[in-house]
Amino acid sequence: MYCDKIAAYTVADLQVKIVPFRGEYYSLKKEKRALVNHLIYPVPDPNFPFLGVHFTRRIDGEIEAGPNAVLAFQREGYKKSQINLSELFEIFGWKGFRKVAVKYWKTGLGEFYRSYNKNAFTHALQKLLPDIKKEDLVPGGAGVRAQACDKEGGLIDDFYIKELPGQIHVLNAPSPAATSSLSIGKTIAELAMKQF
Ligand SMILES: Cc1cc2nc3c(=O)[nH]c(=O)nc-3n(C[C@H](O)[C@H](O)[C@H](O)COP(=O)(O)OP(=O)(O)OC[C@H]3O[C@@H](n4cnc5c(N)ncnc54)[C@H](O)[C@@H]3O)c2cc1C
Repeated sequence: MYCDKIAAYTVADLQVKIVPFRGEYYSLKKEKRALVNHLIYPVPDPNFPFLGVHFTRRIDGEIEAGPNAVLAFQREGYKKSQINLSELFEIFGWKGFRKVAVKYWKTGLGEFYRSYNKNAFTHALQKLLPDIKKEDLVPGGAGVRAQACDKEGGLIDDFYIKELPGQIHVLNAPSPAATSSLSIGKTIAELAMKQF
């Protein structure tokens, strides 16, 4: 979440800023888990870095439904109520983010609406699984995506690792960085072997 801050200690004029996007989940009630036997994902929209809500069966049998993608009002904003004004001003002070806001304001408002309106969240889930009802969903956890945004308003959708003498900065590790973690780790280890 703070990789850009760390990098800025040594990199003059860093071209990216981390923008936090919270992803909120519901969980399926136990008696409804049989509706989901595997992962159910939408086809990604290539114009938008976030996949949209989907169903994930976890190894403990729990079914997660989500996540949405709402701007978090602080970097570690895991709850709606968490607001850090100086971090928020910093986000809106970044030219690239203002361009993102202009480009995606409609999508962003839709995500906020879904965040506060369970009916709307359910409706989005029903596109993948029509049998889901609002009563089947209980509040789940949330995660915050550390999304790198460049100066030109691009939400960087690839991994971004910057090397400097004696330094390796991971400046963007968006989804599927968890799935790709071993491979990313290997890449970083190889860079470190060369560097150090
Ligand atoms: C809602 C959501 C859904 C996602 N869905 C998927 C998905 O379906 N598939 C997928 O592949 N990826 C997914 N991701 C992305 C994935 O979680 C991240 O890309 C991945 O976790 C990035 O890994 P990381 O090691 O860079 O950071 P992290 O996983 O955040 O690890 C950083 C670690 O460093 C620790 N840390 C921070 N500061 C310090 C410090 N000062 N000292 C010691 N430790 C510290 C933190 O506690 C943390 O454990 C999702 C992310 C979110 C938020």
